[in-house]
Amino acid sequence: MSDFNTSSTAAVWAGEENLFAEGAICLPVFNSVTFGYDDMGEWFDVALGRKKGHIYSRNTNPTVRPLEEKIRIMDGGEEATSFSTGMAAISNTLFTLLAPGERVVAVKDTYGGSNKIFIEFLPRMQVDVCLCDTSDFDAIEREVAKGCKVLYLETPTNPTLKIVDIERLAKAAHAVGAVVVVDNTFATPINQRPLTLGADVVVYSATKYLNGHSDVMGGLAVGRKDLIDRIFHYREITGATLHPHSAYMILRGMKTLELRIKRHNENGMRVATWLSQHPKVDKVFYPGLETHPNHDIARKQMTGFGGMLSFSLKGGFDKVVTVLENLKYAHKAASLGSVGTLVGPPRTTSHVELSEQERANAGIPESLIRYSAGIEDGDDLIADLEQALAKA
Ligand code: PLP
Repeated sequence: MSDFNTSSTAAVWAGEENLFAEGAICLPVFNSVTFGYDDMGEWFDVALGRKKGHIYSRNTNPTVRPLEEKIRIMDGGEEATSFSTGMAAISNTLFTLLAPGERVVAVKDTYGGSNKIFIEFLPRMQVDVCLCDTSDFDAIEREVAKGCKVLYLETPTNPTLKIVDIERLAKAAHAVGAVVVVDNTFATPINQRPLTLGADVVVYSATKYLNGHSDVMGGLAVGRKDLIDRIFHYREITGATLHPHSAYMILRGMKTLELRIKRHNENGMRVATWLSQHPKVDKVFYPGLETHPNHDIARKQMTGFGGMLSFSLKGGFDKVVTVLENLKYAHKAASLGSVGTLVGPPRTTSHVELSEQERANAGIPESLIRYSAGIEDGDDLIADLEQALAKA
């Protein structure tokens, strides 16, 4: 972690050390759209990249830049850039790295928005898209070996928390000269650092754990400098730029990232373990449980298993409705990774556009509940689930 030995210190200080002005101990929010120069020579030098500075906030901004630097340091990347949302980070990355006639291999279980890029927008650009069974690493290796420009992974996946072996698949991708992109939104650099496992670019929805308070949207991409420079160029021209106020909010949220993730990890593990012993629960999906089919890989590549889990109930969707309506300490809402617990049924949220059969094919039970454990007291969360399940 360059000059930082610990992620807790990096979360607080990285990217910000030399930027405080007038004795302030917080960064200012530079709302300025443009940056002026009285010295024409200096202006041209900055514009041509010969001198550090800012020209126009669609490109770079002095509040946004420290956030990019913080994630660069925390993930151990050479360069980082930022976006208005997580989907902007993902789409801009894929649109930069892929051209008509080229091929991308990805896992099937990507976030719904990412999946739409693969099935709707990339084919329209004449990109050949190959989506593989997320848990069949042999099949992914076989497809990668046929040749591709990009291997796109997400782990753990949404909503059934599948685990993908990043190191193994990155080796296969590099053997054919492909670039490896990993969506690390669920894990964050506290629980998993894909660049150390062979990934070339890591993408984030900063809307989730990085900001952590469900009050701002953003996206980040971090990794190899040659690739991030190209992705930055695509973003600065096409314009999905992060607002300085949002950058400030994410920077502020990230100062407590390590503390929050520790509690998310604790609550995720406690709730998953408790649910797995409950008579009304059919199945629990959580990579920290020894019964998870890829628990060994999760142990190898993650330092914590996170606050995301899902569970299915014995019985039909009416049981799901009863449990959700009776939970007190959980917002019934989309999204995840916030200080407050968030729950929702994939059947009517993230996977509402699929038919029952398609959900079954994707391994998503109709009675599945996705649970993003917040940082509340774990005993309170379990007591709340207990009373809600008793009514179902
Ligand atoms: N990646 C994952 C894993 C997500 O869960 C999400 C959103 O839920 C995104 C990307 C997209 O992020 P955003 O909503 O910030 O565009």
